[in-house]
Amino acid sequence: MKTQCSTNLADSRPGVPRPSFLAYLWLRMVNRTLMRKPYRVRPEAETAHQKMTVVDMHCDALLSNRDLLVWGRRGHVDLPRLRKGNIALQFFSIPTLAPVRAGIPWIPLELDAMTYLLAVERWPKKALGSTFERVMHAADMLRDLEARSEGLFHIIQSVPQLDAFLAAREENPNLTAGLLGVEGLHSLEGRLENLDAFYDAGVRTAGLVHLGGNDLGGSAHGRQQGGLTPFGEVVLRRMEEKRMLVDLAHASPALIDDILDRATRPVFISHTGLKGAHDNERNISDAQAGRIAEKGGVIGIAFFPWAIGPCTVQSIVRSVLYAVNLVGADHVGLGSDWDGMVATPFDASGVALLTDALLRHGLSEEDAAKIMGGNAIRVVRETLPEE
Ligand SMILES: [Zn+2]
Repeated sequence: MKTQCSTNLADSRPGVPRPSFLAYLWLRMVNRTLMRKPYRVRPEAETAHQKMTVVDMHCDALLSNRDLLVWGRRGHVDLPRLRKGNIALQFFSIPTLAPVRAGIPWIPLELDAMTYLLAVERWPKKALGSTFERVMHAADMLRDLEARSEGLFHIIQSVPQLDAFLAAREENPNLTAGLLGVEGLHSLEGRLENLDAFYDAGVRTAGLVHLGGNDLGGSAHGRQQGGLTPFGEVVLRRMEEKRMLVDLAHASPALIDDILDRATRPVFISHTGLKGAHDNERNISDAQAGRIAEKGGVIGIAFFPWAIGPCTVQSIVRSVLYAVNLVGADHVGLGSDWDGMVATPFDASGVALLTDALLRHGLSEEDAAKIMGGNAIRVVRETLPEE
């Protein structure tokens, strides 16, 4: 399949990421896995897992400074590990700001850790000075991966592309697809037309906010905890017109409610936990989970301790089962946050461990298949452009 991109690949092609020892050390320290390999999955669970269309709705592997064509000994996601995990579709998100301050009053508000990370990873100068350019560069990186993959990796931008990919994957299980997303639309830099530029670069999903509030709305981690702003409302409408998938992750409770009040299409929350299973500022309430399900959306359960508690398969399953009991098996999915500066129990090659655990907890193969990816595929198909 060919993707349509308006950007000239030859001009912007980032090529194979150039390793930097500092970035290597930093990312090795933060993107850890706690379980040792080989991962042990019961043969009957492995057989069931291989029949499923598995989807993970959130990773930050584009920041990982590795060549994603090669099986990495650090971090969580690359194409060989996605293949080993039988993951058909991986969402690749682009975060562009990581405030350093996190409650330390003497650190200036605007100090951004990502600028330093991207500098040691040798991103282009223009991307260091602009969050908009960070998105555009990361989108180039994913397109470059597609171009170098010799047909094994496809960026999905429309329903026909998704259907053609899934049909092709029936014949060749080595195929993997990616869906490109943006974490925080402060990267529009206040200009609605930049959403068109993101769309043209292949972006099909975005969360309005990330680790701090911005000119679109309030963050779960911000001081203001505000709702949707007038600019946020304009962007939300434009995202729906363009058939982009709206992500509620990191939004403040007021912003989640405002978006749910206005959304006319299914929305999703890519990587979260539920307050009822593990209470903290970033997780959603039972009522919000219910409203996401009512809209036909899907709740992606994250794999890292902040969202679910102890870094174990059991914690992920506990949150998944809590959500299933609350909203039903049709509205729960996976949103690992692999390579998102978090520790997770296993990397992308080990996701069959979850299928195994869900079946052991008494879920039917049919319900497990929905959670492992069927629900995410449904929402993507209902949301993305039809041509
Ligand atoms: Zn996140």
